[in-house]
Amino acid sequence: MLALKKPDLLRQQAYINGQWCDADSAATFDVRNPATGEILGTVPDMGAAETRRAIEGAQAAWGAWRAMTAKERAAILRRWFDLMTEHAQDLAVIMTAEQGKPLSESRGEIAYGAAFLEWFAEEGKRAYGDVIPTFARDRRIVVTKEPIGVCAAITPWNFPSSMITRKAGAALAAGCPLVVKPAEQTPFSALALAVLAEEAGVPPGVFSVLTGDAPAIGGEMTSSPLVRKVSFTGSTEIGRLLMGQCAPSIKKLSLELGGNAPFIVFDDADLDAAVEGAIASKYRNAGQTCVCTNRFYVQDSVYDAFSRKLVEAVGRLRVGNGLEEGVTQGPLIDEAAVAKVREHIADAVAQGGRILTGGRPHALGHTFFEPTVLADALPTMRLAREETFGPLAPLFRFGSDADVIRMANDTEYGLAAYFYSRDIGRVWRVAEALEYGMVGINTGLISNEAVPFGGVKQSGLGREGSHYGLDDYLVVKYLCMGGI
Ligand code: ADP
Repeated sequence: MLALKKPDLLRQQAYINGQWCDADSAATFDVRNPATGEILGTVPDMGAAETRRAIEGAQAAWGAWRAMTAKERAAILRRWFDLMTEHAQDLAVIMTAEQGKPLSESRGEIAYGAAFLEWFAEEGKRAYGDVIPTFARDRRIVVTKEPIGVCAAITPWNFPSSMITRKAGAALAAGCPLVVKPAEQTPFSALALAVLAEEAGVPPGVFSVLTGDAPAIGGEMTSSPLVRKVSFTGSTEIGRLLMGQCAPSIKKLSLELGGNAPFIVFDDADLDAAVEGAIASKYRNAGQTCVCTNRFYVQDSVYDAFSRKLVEAVGRLRVGNGLEEGVTQGPLIDEAAVAKVREHIADAVAQGGRILTGGRPHALGHTFFEPTVLADALPTMRLAREETFGPLAPLFRFGSDADVIRMANDTEYGLAAYFYSRDIGRVWRVAEALEYGMVGINTGLISNEAVPFGGVKQSGLGREGSHYGLDDYLVVKYLCMGGI
């Protein structure tokens, strides 16, 4: 059992319309610790019927929730933030147990996740409308912003808590109820959030979490006429599927999908800073984030020096069970994740890639993998086109700025990109030329509740966090007042 100060944070039931409940069929599924393979517990295996009830409950709760003032909603969200902060250690332990990331990263994610509740609590008070100068003497024009209505969210396992609060903070602050389906690998972090939402005073139906059959739950969420908006974070493949499913009822969609982030090291870069940024952007969460660097491009004249320094820094990473102090890289989420990393490495080596460090499953077994650096990467390799989602850093060589910009943009994705340079002219030119929603310049860490997170091309639609994130849950209404 996990050592929790507040043991009832670990719930094995879903939370629908203010009730803790089992599946109609009483079926459950197991949740495992990826570091040990042991079963942590079970959660209800729900489907379309339970989802429909959650959506109907959300619809019923919407009227009273939207009628509250933004300040009243903010007070509840603020209490939820305070409770997350108070129970941060327990929430982090639950997260590491089901997801695998080191405890320090889980604590970081809880702080990051809680910050969205605090941020949107405040931001909701500023959902300002507009008064537009009239086009006719007897009329006045007023623009208001209203909550879009019942929202549904489907979230991934790599950020089990913050991907929920990033959506819930915005939705609830805007005046919308939200029904959430977390990833099957990490439901306990989501259910723990529901425990705290209930304690904070979020009314029944305004925030529900249900676990179970993803296609059945997703099918109901996307086809229900009551759901006005679907927000999804996950793979591009499932995003595309959900977008299709939302088409018949023309739902508003927010999609945070895959990335294939380039990280460019120019010849005038501070190499030590670039290595520090590279470690942060590549090996965080064992390489399992959608903004993790997938491709390193290093300019000819600094290629050898950067490779050497990166290999040294990778040598200082410590692989192990994330619950142990000092561990910097936990296990991958499952066997399939390990298989993908191995396939990318085998394909690269067959095409002339050289392993500088790592390259194999870790001696700890299970789903642990060695942090890996591979030199002489080529555009024909699978790792150039597909997200590896693991601790593999491939190093490509480039000559000119024009070449690297072309290679960096040569992907259907457009989420995050990073580059290191100290030349102000080059910084502007490259920043403008990169076809990405987010660009880290001389930094490998870009996420924060105050900034607009999101991508272009097949990395998604919409923005989360910042004041832009609130807009995604609001609709504009224009009032034309005549007879004046
Ligand atoms: P990954 O491959 O990294 O798990 P997915 O896109 O498959 O990424 O998963 C992200 C979320 O999408 C998870 O909550 C998962 O359960 C959900 N999901 C997967 N398939 C479907 C589907 N057909 N309909 C709705 N949700 C789905």
